[in-house]
Amino acid sequence: MTISLRQSLFQLLFFGVFITALLIMANVWTITSKAALDQVSKNIDVANTVLEQLMAERSNQLLNSARVLTDDFGFKQAVATGDIPTIQSVLENHSQRIDADFMAILDLSGQVIESQPAIFAKDTAFPFPEIVRSVLENGGADDALIVNDGLYQVIMLPIYAPNPIAIAGIGFLNGDAFLRDVKSIIQADIIVSLHSQSSSNPVVLHSSLPRYKAERVIAANQQTLNWFDVTFFRSAPYLIRQIALPDTISKEVTITLAVDVSNHFDNFSALQFSILVISLMAIAGSLLVSMFMAHRVSKPVASLVDAANQLANGNYDKSFRTHGKLREINALSVAFVRMKDSIQQRQESILTQSRQDLLTGLYNRGYMETLIEQQLNSGKKLQVIGINIRDFRTINDLYGYSNGDACIVTIAERIKEWSGTAARLSGGELVWFANEPLTQEQIESFHASLELPVITNQVVMSVKIIFTIINCPEDATSTQDLLRKMNILLDEGEQGAAWCLYFNNDVEQRYLRRLNIITELKKVLQTQQDELSLVYQPKVDLHNGKVNGLEALIRWNSKTLGFVPPDEFICIAEQAGFIEKVTDWVFSQVIRDVLFLKGNNISLQPAINLSMQDIQNRPLLEKLIQLLHENSLSTRDITLEITESDLVADANLAIDNLTFLRNKGFSIAIDDFGTGYSSLAYLKHLPVTDIKIDKSFVLNLSADSEDQQIVHTILSLSNIFDLKVVAEGVEDAQTMNILTEWGCDTAQGYFITRPLPLSELVEWLDRTEYF
Ligand code: C2E
Ligand code: CA
Ligand code: CA
Repeated sequence: MTISLRQSLFQLLFFGVFITALLIMANVWTITSKAALDQVSKNIDVANTVLEQLMAERSNQLLNSARVLTDDFGFKQAVATGDIPTIQSVLENHSQRIDADFMAILDLSGQVIESQPAIFAKDTAFPFPEIVRSVLENGGADDALIVNDGLYQVIMLPIYAPNPIAIAGIGFLNGDAFLRDVKSIIQADIIVSLHSQSSSNPVVLHSSLPRYKAERVIAANQQTLNWFDVTFFRSAPYLIRQIALPDTISKEVTITLAVDVSNHFDNFSALQFSILVISLMAIAGSLLVSMFMAHRVSKPVASLVDAANQLANGNYDKSFRTHGKLREINALSVAFVRMKDSIQQRQESILTQSRQDLLTGLYNRGYMETLIEQQLNSGKKLQVIGINIRDFRTINDLYGYSNGDACIVTIAERIKEWSGTAARLSGGELVWFANEPLTQEQIESFHASLELPVITNQVVMSVKIIFTIINCPEDATSTQDLLRKMNILLDEGEQGAAWCLYFNNDVEQRYLRRLNIITELKKVLQTQQDELSLVYQPKVDLHNGKVNGLEALIRWNSKTLGFVPPDEFICIAEQAGFIEKVTDWVFSQVIRDVLFLKGNNISLQPAINLSMQDIQNRPLLEKLIQLLHENSLSTRDITLEITESDLVADANLAIDNLTFLRNKGFSIAIDDFGTGYSSLAYLKHLPVTDIKIDKSFVLNLSADSEDQQIVHTILSLSNIFDLKVVAEGVEDAQTMNILTEWGCDTAQGYFITRPLPLSELVEWLDRTEYF
């Protein structure tokens, strides 16, 4: 079980004072009580002594007066002669002189001769024969007598003439009046009581106290007292001491000294009471002080505890500052404040780090998602612009990662100049939005500001930026949806040349189709399948009108997607990076078909279409050569067609590999000439043997004078560079004629025949006039 600090402080303070007060009180109480008791018993001792002295004094006085009486010659004579009137008169005189209460004359046998006052009847026997005997034996007796319920102190002496002739007795009554006198001397009450055989209670004979009180004191018989009795039994506040009577008959008589202790104790009681009051006040005071102290300590501690709990819950607003007077508590609160500050700082820096993209200092993907979510939830119109560095991978490949990083950092710095919220999602993908959608002009100047060349210490890089723009809530209502659609736009953007793409459903449909094609085609290439096939389109030598070659063209009849045009899936496979697999398939298929044709005595070289990626793939090219070798074919049994594209990761590698192929003996044609980037002047540096005029210039050649001009120029220049020219897309006789007339080397097109499956090709060759 635990108790609160406040309780514990309170207990400590309060019980400390309480126990101390209690101890002091008890101590004072017992000491004072004991002192009081001591004083009382001393008093009673004194009273006792004084009483004894008084009695002795009285006894002396009695003895003296008895001697005077017994030595009186006249008296002796009167006794000896039995002269009663003289005896009476002497006794009377004497008694008056010494104020005796009792005088008597006995004869030696104990018969009363005279008694004044007449408490003993004349001529009767004295009722205390032991005294008579003692007087005769010892020459006198000092004793106390109970007569008629009165206690007399008596002295009895023999009267000598010269032999004893009689006994004289003289006594004082120790009555109430006497006792009261004594009391004023000894400061104690005196009670004379009688224990008779008949009654169990002693009977009070004389007392300085009123009778009823005296009886009570006797009955209480309080011989000792302790402080407890004194304190709590105030009803009988007399301490008594029984003192012995001088002599014999006293067995039944008791003299009790009684001291009224209440007087003594009252002083001490007053002291005790005041100490009690002081103690109680101290306890009450300590109660208040300890409550106050406990409050003063526990309140700031409680508020610190509260603040610490708030801190644990991530609430940093609660103040830890306490402004009490307790130094340690204040120090604790200062330490708490410091702890809070450092936790807060650390948390903030962790938070910032967790939100930041370390390279650019922009937000990272995770935090951007939250921010976009907030914007979307606010219900406002939101235009989110995806900012993508086109072919960022190629930049990394070409210039190295440090330059790639520098490129991103530069773009990020440029973005920061536009007020808005920006984040880097990954690689060269960034995202930006502002409070208000940008206008078309703003978008254009934003884009232009980002596309400035990036200059580092080592290189100057020209960058192309693709903007992918999602307008919310029309295009997307959730962050995930938004980012997904932005991805789709980017994918689309990377296929084409457009720099700014807006989302619409067609884009998404195209994307989904592309995705389907990729998955399906990959699947098809991995399994033994009959979905892919090759068709062959013959080429005709225009100089002699005979077939001089074939072009192998791939076909895909997908079970799930239906017929997919090669233009479409070849392009997708190139972008998705697995064109190598397609080419590989074509290689083996073409080699099989070449062997088949040779077996049928047809010696025609099929042209294989290589994509630019294939040209940069040396192992693939070597594999082709190896395949030819394995099948005892030579590099002259097939030809190659390549289409130049605008972005070649490594142009030198491409040229090296083309040279390698050329040196191995392959004929190489540049495909789709006229559409791309290759000029004839440039081709001079490429190890190619043929150019294929793109079908777009040929299809309408007979009618289109512009096309005629282009084709004519190409034909004349190729003559200068010593390149053979193939015209593809020849659809009519007129075109064939024009091309023949202008000295074109080879023609290919539907006019001759459409591309044919191998078996149909064989049939066609069998019946055509071109073979
Ligand atoms: P390309 O290499 O320019 O192939 C010639 C295309 O022109 C073929 O289309 C062919 O059918 C078509 N053609 C031939 N004569 C005529 C004509 O008189 N009129 C018209 N309108 N068209 C004609 P296809 O087979 O659809 O191939 C399209 C493109 O797909 C090819 O263009 C080539 O770039 C690519 N391709 C086809 N097969 C392969 C392949 O095995 N590997 C690679 N890398 N690309 C291939
Ligand atoms: Ca071709
Ligand atoms: Ca072509």
